[in-house]
Amino acid sequence: GGGGAAANQNAVSSMINRWTGKPYSQRYYEILEKRKTLPVWHQKEEFLQALKASQSLILVGETGSGKTTQIPQFVLEAVNSESSDKRKKMMVACTQPRRVAAMSVSHRVAEEMDVTIGEEVGYSIRFEDCSSSRTVLKYLTDGMLLREAMTDPLLERYSVIILDEAHERTLATDVLFGLLKEVLRNRPDLKVVVMSATLEAEKFQGYFSGAPLMKVPGRLHPVEIFYTEEPERDYLEAAIRTVVQIHMYETPGDILVFLTGEEEIEDACRKINKEIGNLGDQVGPVKVVPLYSTLPPAMQQKIFDPAPPPVKEGGIPGRKIVVSTNIAETSLTIDGIVYVIDPGFAKQIVYNPRVRVESLLVSPISKASAHQRSGRAGRTQPGKCFRLYTEKSFQNDLQPQTYPEILRSNLANTVLTLKKLGIDDLVHFDFMDPPAPETLMRALEVLNYLGALDDDGNLTKLGEIMSEFPLDPQMSKMLVVSPEFSCSNEILSISAMLSDFLLCKHCPNCYICMQMLMHVVEVVMCQIRLSSATVLSREAQKAADEAKARFGHIDGDHLTLLNVYHAYKQNNEDPSWCYENFVNQRALKSADNVRQQLVRIMGRFNLKLCSTEFNSRDYYINIRKAMLAGYFMQVAHLERTGHYLTVKDNQVVHLHPSNCLDHKPEWVIYNEYVLTSRNFIRTVMDIRGEWLIDIAPHYYDLANFPQCEAKRVLEKLYRKREDKDENKNRR
Ligand code: ADP
Ligand code: MG
Repeated sequence: GGGGAAANQNAVSSMINRWTGKPYSQRYYEILEKRKTLPVWHQKEEFLQALKASQSLILVGETGSGKTTQIPQFVLEAVNSESSDKRKKMMVACTQPRRVAAMSVSHRVAEEMDVTIGEEVGYSIRFEDCSSSRTVLKYLTDGMLLREAMTDPLLERYSVIILDEAHERTLATDVLFGLLKEVLRNRPDLKVVVMSATLEAEKFQGYFSGAPLMKVPGRLHPVEIFYTEEPERDYLEAAIRTVVQIHMYETPGDILVFLTGEEEIEDACRKINKEIGNLGDQVGPVKVVPLYSTLPPAMQQKIFDPAPPPVKEGGIPGRKIVVSTNIAETSLTIDGIVYVIDPGFAKQIVYNPRVRVESLLVSPISKASAHQRSGRAGRTQPGKCFRLYTEKSFQNDLQPQTYPEILRSNLANTVLTLKKLGIDDLVHFDFMDPPAPETLMRALEVLNYLGALDDDGNLTKLGEIMSEFPLDPQMSKMLVVSPEFSCSNEILSISAMLSDFLLCKHCPNCYICMQMLMHVVEVVMCQIRLSSATVLSREAQKAADEAKARFGHIDGDHLTLLNVYHAYKQNNEDPSWCYENFVNQRALKSADNVRQQLVRIMGRFNLKLCSTEFNSRDYYINIRKAMLAGYFMQVAHLERTGHYLTVKDNQVVHLHPSNCLDHKPEWVIYNEYVLTSRNFIRTVMDIRGEWLIDIAPHYYDLANFPQCEAKRVLEKLYRKREDKDENKNRR
């Protein structure tokens, strides 16, 4: 009968992928079976009803319940079946605090939807847009959505915005909260879903005026927690020892180790491989995989590979050992983890507004984080978590929650963005946790000194242009004024090298961390790092010296970077040249890409691309002056006692041993302030005292300068200049 034919047709059409018009692949059905077992699938209808019924919605679910991969797809289905207006195609956005997560998850979802990444499903992270006019679902970092809001204040291209990983409380997510609350008032058709891994859900609910809260029950197995009897002196060594012990004595199951950064993780992976290698065939095979934000995407994917099979049939089963930063805490879910090792530390941003220093510090995690970490062990079966600290320390020393980033960051960039978004009254902006007034004041002050805000706090023309660069305000200032110093080509190259994400390697999200550049030469010249991080082998030391001799510029690290970039281009980006010269090709390629994007922004504002004649005496001088025009607030002075003091803040600092200088300049600008047992300034350049009073007289106005040696030197420089002017007048 007719009914049968219709049913048949339905069955056929459901085998056609509506996005591509092609039949679904075998792989699609395989993944679909897996997806259907995820906890969120049991609440699909409930979720869609709730979404229909209200403008904003809070969704809370344990890590791994399928929030990030499934919910956006549910939303997409609902949006598309509802809207009859085909002309107005609107997108679904899903934000991620970490670029790795945005990339990894979008790839996975493209696979789940049986489409090509970059077409229907895309991602957008700073300096990399992998989306097209066909894109209907876009994963993007929270920082990127904020940037989009600068040109599209009502975010009109989206019908639903999902703020994922809200519990991480990154700076950009917190700003988006306040912004979206406003946008929701002006756009009744927009919907916002806030997703979080359990923490603080009620707080979100209160903030979004009682938005409904939906809970996805986790399916966690019990996790047994072990503490150490005594505090561990060296957590890295303790972590490696624990891995080896688990591998020798515990039943099958994969291991997840939390460490703090790339260097440490690579070091740990090497040592684990070595120590387990030494055990021979008494133990099963292992596959040790690192995970951190600057790992290339193909390497990131390895965390999802299965554990290695036994060496011979019926032998001891193999184990996968993932050594990861905080990324694996909630952003990415790895199935099959049974053992978690938690040393209790993570790299976190700290900001001291009094001395204007923002730094990444290895600091103790919160109880909430420790809880999340241990949860990773119980995803597929009962698990064990080894905390490398005492129970007493857990109870007494750990904060209950991680502080939101907005309370511990430099806000200069955020304030510039907010001003550009038209939010003038920062004091009354609806922050979920308002930042300290002192921090806001500091940010306004910095932007005023840079000329981005006038004395009334309004955005200037210069500030307007600066806000268009996805860089910190100092760097964008330097770029915008570089044509005045006839060196915009060179400043572009230096900026690209500095802001290349490989340099920005410990940073979970994009542009707040520009000051935290890593030791430049070390990073650019990757082979040097092949040896252990702490002790350079003799060959590596030789390679480092050679590289320094080849590219090093005695006036500063920024000029060294420029030399490397120029040499790379002059040698036609040749991979074997890179190899022979200890140059990290991947870093240079990516810097080149960044540079092209910055050139495009320069073009939009008719900023001239120009250079000083290379043989001119002014070639490097102009570059150094242009840099100072952006970084005049990051200057240190060499005291007679032989150490450096930062200008105005009078902090004792030391030149980082990695610098390329052959002398100790009287004045240096620096890009990064590194807090360790000693305070280092890294990526430094020699500049002249006279330039300070020429280029930034408003900042070097001695009327409000603390008493110090630098002040006396500046006074002399001012007097010298007055004398000179007088002589000129007399003549
Ligand atoms: P949540 O956001 O709730 O933490 P996700 O949606 O990220 O959960 O993960 C759901 C499932 O998808 C997990 O079992 C995870 O392991 C799996 N998954 C996610 N990305 C990948 C990938 N790239 N490869 C294989 N499995 C993946
Ligand atoms: Mg998630």
